[in-house]
Amino acid sequence: MFRIRSITAIPISVPLTKPVKMAGATVTSADNVLVRVEDDTGAVGWGESASAPMMNGETQAGMAAAIRHMAERLHSAEVTDVAALPYLIGPTIHFNPGAKAAVEIALLDLVGQRTGQPLYDLLGGRQRQRAAALVFIAGGTLEEEVAEARRLVDEGIIALKVKIGIQGVETDLARCAAIRAAVGAGIRISADANMGYGREAALAFCARAAETGIDFLEQPVAEEDLATMAECARACGVPIAADEGLQSIDLIRRHHEMGAAAGGSLKTIKLGGMLAVIEAGRLMQRLGMHVNLAGKTAETGIASAAIAHLAVVLPELAWDTSMTAPYLAADVVTEPPKVREGYITPPEGPGLGIRVDGAQLARFMV
Ligand SMILES: [Mg+2]
Repeated sequence: MFRIRSITAIPISVPLTKPVKMAGATVTSADNVLVRVEDDTGAVGWGESASAPMMNGETQAGMAAAIRHMAERLHSAEVTDVAALPYLIGPTIHFNPGAKAAVEIALLDLVGQRTGQPLYDLLGGRQRQRAAALVFIAGGTLEEEVAEARRLVDEGIIALKVKIGIQGVETDLARCAAIRAAVGAGIRISADANMGYGREAALAFCARAAETGIDFLEQPVAEEDLATMAECARACGVPIAADEGLQSIDLIRRHHEMGAAAGGSLKTIKLGGMLAVIEAGRLMQRLGMHVNLAGKTAETGIASAAIAHLAVVLPELAWDTSMTAPYLAADVVTEPPKVREGYITPPEGPGLGIRVDGAQLARFMV
């Protein structure tokens, strides 16, 4: 199909409109790495991964170095078809799923452009026209959070995720209950502890989780503690989701076998790309697990476009999609995908369907 002429890692830092507070980190800027791939005809594809040291162990500098290492090995490599991409990218370096995802997204963008197909077609076709957007409630006083939840629901949002695990179980329970009371039934509300609880706190939250009216509880304890996750699942009146714990296809199976999660979050930066997310999504559907598709807080219009394409392709998406470009104060693409009336639709046009704005890119390069 084409040969790779060059792969360039471009570290960027883009401010968020306001900080997102979660257990383990408060995010104020998107410190990401973009990938620009050029083929032998001069056509260009774009990819991106957010740095997420607490999620996959990769820092911005580490990803940039890994991508440069991969670029040397992929120079002049021939891309023949989509299915061959993991076999091309995988052997260039061990681990580093975020770096691999950025390179894969850029190559997929290029394949889409070369074949004239939007990524949702290239990746298997649309299962739905649009996907409900999940939006975070993560910071401010209780009154501010309740007002934010009301405002989002008024805009059409039907899925909210309350970030918990920082202020203690009692406060977290009160926040969840207040937000449910404010928005009423019919809105999906999840609580994400980002591993912020120990066993005692997690079980204490679980004992009263159903009373608050939340629909599921995400990653209450450490990713490797599947025994306590399973204990929470037995004790909790609401389903348990895994996120940090779902670092591979095998770990999805293990959570299922141990009764440690009824579903969970799929991210390109954990699994190493869009193709692995689709494979994982198909497995979760077969296992009867619910899927949340998630961008990392926060990604520009490049990785968010990848999320928007995946959101219409995944077979099961009962726990909605968080696309994070809307949290950014500015973007490097001319028209980043937006949430409209609560829903996400992918850009039209070949590949990702986005256009990078050179001046904006120069502004945010680090
Ligand atoms: Mg999470």
